[in-house]
Amino acid sequence: MRVVVAQETADGERRVAVVPETVATLTAAGHEVWVQAGAGLHAFVTDDELAARGAQIVLDRPQLLQSADVVLAVQPLPVGDISHLRAGAVALSFLQPWAHGQAVRALAARSVTSFSLDLVPRISRAQSMDALSSQALVAGYRAVMLAAANAPRLFPLFMTAAGTIPPAKVLVLGAGVAGLQAIATARRLGAVVTAYDVRVAAGEEVRSLGATFLDLELDSQEGEGGYARVQSEAFLVRQRELIAEQVGRADVVLTTAAVPGRPAPLLVTAEMVATMRPGSIIVDLGADVEAAEGGGNCELTRGGETIEVNGVMIHGPRNAASAYPLHASGLYARNVANLLALLVRDGQVDPDWDDEIVATCCVTRDGEVTA
Ligand code: NAD
Repeated sequence: MRVVVAQETADGERRVAVVPETVATLTAAGHEVWVQAGAGLHAFVTDDELAARGAQIVLDRPQLLQSADVVLAVQPLPVGDISHLRAGAVALSFLQPWAHGQAVRALAARSVTSFSLDLVPRISRAQSMDALSSQALVAGYRAVMLAAANAPRLFPLFMTAAGTIPPAKVLVLGAGVAGLQAIATARRLGAVVTAYDVRVAAGEEVRSLGATFLDLELDSQEGEGGYARVQSEAFLVRQRELIAEQVGRADVVLTTAAVPGRPAPLLVTAEMVATMRPGSIIVDLGADVEAAEGGGNCELTRGGETIEVNGVMIHGPRNAASAYPLHASGLYARNVANLLALLVRDGQVDPDWDDEIVATCCVTRDGEVTA
């Protein structure tokens, strides 16, 4: 079976879906691996390294795609690329079908069987395929790095002959995978961290990282699969009233709150930003995914931009994991290779359609949209 990887073309996307280690895994499983020349360069993965582990480097992109049994990608394939795939080919990538209807329809029309990494269920058996977690981990780290690099203050406590510098006060709103990684990273830099999540269960994880859990004494909003459930507007209004004071006190506010398939909940209003001291920083990961609904956790965030409001810098990074393409690619490439391994029987893609993971992350099959 020929597994191909073309260069990512989305704006700002620096990751690649294959790294030397996974070329070796795929070839050891009996597959051919063909990679477009230069596909890994933005992730600092060279053609020579890929070739040394058994990849065939191909110059002609349409030819590469036409010859594919399986295509691995990070972002949804562009419609132009899909038109080169043969009927019956298999595509694995992030697809966020609710935001990429055109690509999904093109995959179905072409009779491509597609699987979306963001739809892999968050069950123990699927952990090695959980690209949402692997990339959220990188994004959480990135949020802290952005804040630390742009803040006018130092993060750790310093006691020196020239005086004492207090540690930065960091507030993390949303303590899922990205939020927990942000807490751990900010703590490593010596910041004093307070964190909040609508799932009360997150409190224990927050405390285990040496941060204070902000308990607003509201009902836990835990939904299915460990995610937050959709919250009522009345809940969100009350929540905003209760976190406003904390936002005003923080030097850095990192927001990562999300509810699957919904616009990011609004946590930080323009009025709250007005109470922050000049020099404070907001990094809003709620704007990370260029989903149809856009938005972020802060009312003033502009996705993909950094703005300044009364001396407060508001960063709305898009695709934050792509800022560290070497390691983000390594993790993603392993996730996607593990998902492919689940789909293969006797050297061919022949999934068990009754398998929960397969059924949940399949988006198109036999010319139909299934997700
Ligand atoms: P996510 O990206 O959907 O959301 C991020 C966080 O935002 C969540 O913790 C959510 O509770 C929180 N949130 C939602 N609305 C909020 C609001 N109004 N205010 C504050 N916070 C709000 O979630 P995620 O990070 O992908 O994962 C969340 C859960 O899934 C966690 O419990 C995690 O442990 C679980 N998980 C399980 C596995 C597994 O394999 N079992 C893998 C990954 C994640």
